[in-house]
Amino acid sequence: MAKRPFVAGNWKMHGTRAELGEVTSISIETETIDNVLVALCVPATLITRAVSASPGFLIGAQDVHHEKKGAFTGSVSVAMVKDAGAKLTIVGHSERRELLGETDEQVRDKAELAIDAGLKTILCVGESLKVRETGQALNFVQQQLEKSLPDMVTAPVHLSIAYEPIWAIGTGKVASAEDIEKMHGRIRKVLDERYGDGAASIRILYGGSVKGSNAKEIFAIDGVDGALVGGASLIASDFMPIVHAAAEVTKD
Ligand code: PEP
Repeated sequence: MAKRPFVAGNWKMHGTRAELGEVTSISIETETIDNVLVALCVPATLITRAVSASPGFLIGAQDVHHEKKGAFTGSVSVAMVKDAGAKLTIVGHSERRELLGETDEQVRDKAELAIDAGLKTILCVGESLKVRETGQALNFVQQQLEKSLPDMVTAPVHLSIAYEPIWAIGTGKVASAEDIEKMHGRIRKVLDERYGDGAASIRILYGGSVKGSNAKEIFAIDGVDGALVGGASLIASDFMPIVHAAAEVTKD
């Protein structure tokens, strides 16, 4: 891995005050690992507490609304998660795209607002099993990414892309090394075409059933700059082996 890898956890709709000890353990255990950037995206209700419990550790949100403010009952804005202490956010996770019908345009607007506000932003893309089976995964993800990318002239410094095949999320299935390498190559090409030289600083993460047992293999794949981790990020003893694997691959 040429860049300092980025390993981010996505707690989804899990976690109350009772689980804050896991955040603290992860933040303490990562203090001595300086060659990996580590973050946890916790439920919005936990952001402030997680930041207070682990000062200096990167805490993020899992989503933000695509408008700055307004009559959007139940939603949280970029300004709100920033005010709560978040330093990053995920946008365009497939669970929101699929279950809540979020569009590429909304994802792009979210990414633009988050980046403008100085939040690190993980923009997710990925194909369904149906698309993969028709042999159109590369073209599908390319188009999804082209429509979701922030409309900016220069490369957004705070942006990372997460390639997450939907069929690999929470299923225990992982895309093959060959498919991951091909997809990350295609994503890199889109970024280069859109942003030119500056695109080289944008990390491309893999997400989908990453665990301690497969992390080293995944991080060794050409074009993988880190991981977005769901289920295995909830408990420090599951998450830390992934962080250590990233640290080891960086040293190799
Ligand atoms: C995710 O939610 O982004 C994810 C990759 O989940 P899991 O690691 O559980 O597959």
